[in-house]
Amino acid sequence: MHAIAPGNGGRQEQSRLISNLRILAAACWTGAILITCANAAPPALRVPLPKPRPAEAPKVEPDKQAEEKAPEKLAPQPSACRLALTEDIAIAPTLPPIIGPGACGGDDIVRLEAVVLPDKSRVPLKPAATLRCTMATAVAEWVRGDVAAIAREAGTSVSELDNFDSFDCRGRNRVAGARMSEHGRANALDVRGVKFANGQFVSFTDRAVARELRAKFIASVCARFTTVLGPGSDWYHEDHVHLDLAERRSGYRICQWDVWDSMPKIAPLSPAVRPEDAPPRETAEDKAKREAAEKPAASEPPAAPAPPKDKRANKKGARKPGAFR
Ligand SMILES: [Zn+2]
Repeated sequence: MHAIAPGNGGRQEQSRLISNLRILAAACWTGAILITCANAAPPALRVPLPKPRPAEAPKVEPDKQAEEKAPEKLAPQPSACRLALTEDIAIAPTLPPIIGPGACGGDDIVRLEAVVLPDKSRVPLKPAATLRCTMATAVAEWVRGDVAAIAREAGTSVSELDNFDSFDCRGRNRVAGARMSEHGRANALDVRGVKFANGQFVSFTDRAVARELRAKFIASVCARFTTVLGPGSDWYHEDHVHLDLAERRSGYRICQWDVWDSMPKIAPLSPAVRPEDAPPRETAEDKAKREAAEKPAASEPPAAPAPPKDKRANKKGARKPGAFR
């Protein structure tokens, strides 16, 4: 019988312990892998996240991206009016759309600097007018057609068109809170007159200008514009004429411009005030007695009543200059 040395027995025990620890470690290692693999997504489904954009990279604006994709939105197509209003008709560069304030403004706006006559001569607007294309075209056609013809009949030519007011964001007649004027839509022009090449300024509202000449201008504008307001329309248009292209139901037009004669026939509104130093009034009985005593002396014709005061002229002088409607 072999005696087992206690030293040998201890080493065996130690060796078995180490062996068991190795098995346990291997089991733990395998288990750890299994757990890790169970938690991990299958490699085929893994989607790599994009790398964050470097801070120094140039910024790309969303609008610019959209514009690059739709280049046709960059420049809106010019309107049919814009295409027709060539430099053979008028010097009228395109202006950017006017947006506000409020309901004011519009697109297809031009700066009407001059009208070009068929003989290529230019009739400048002083100053240039801001108008929507359709209104600018109407003004150009009026000057090219009618105004040029009227000047020709007068033995001269037209050299300048007065612009009293064009685009102006305001209520009618500059009344606060009033309905918006066509001026606010760049659809109106106020004019005081035209200048002829012979130096004459034909004021549309000046009674010193021949009545026949003023009547020709009235007929021409009322045929071309849907609203014409001049002297006689209201208190605001005694020194200029308002023209616009307002659209109304059934094509209704307004043409209110009276050609005053040199002496307007306005009836006096009330009898003249009796002067304090006037002699006392005589009764019908006194008068009969006096006339009987004076016979057969020739009687003086009754004194003509004092000419009526032109209240319009007074009003005109009272208000501040400016353009209305
Ligand atoms: Zn006006």
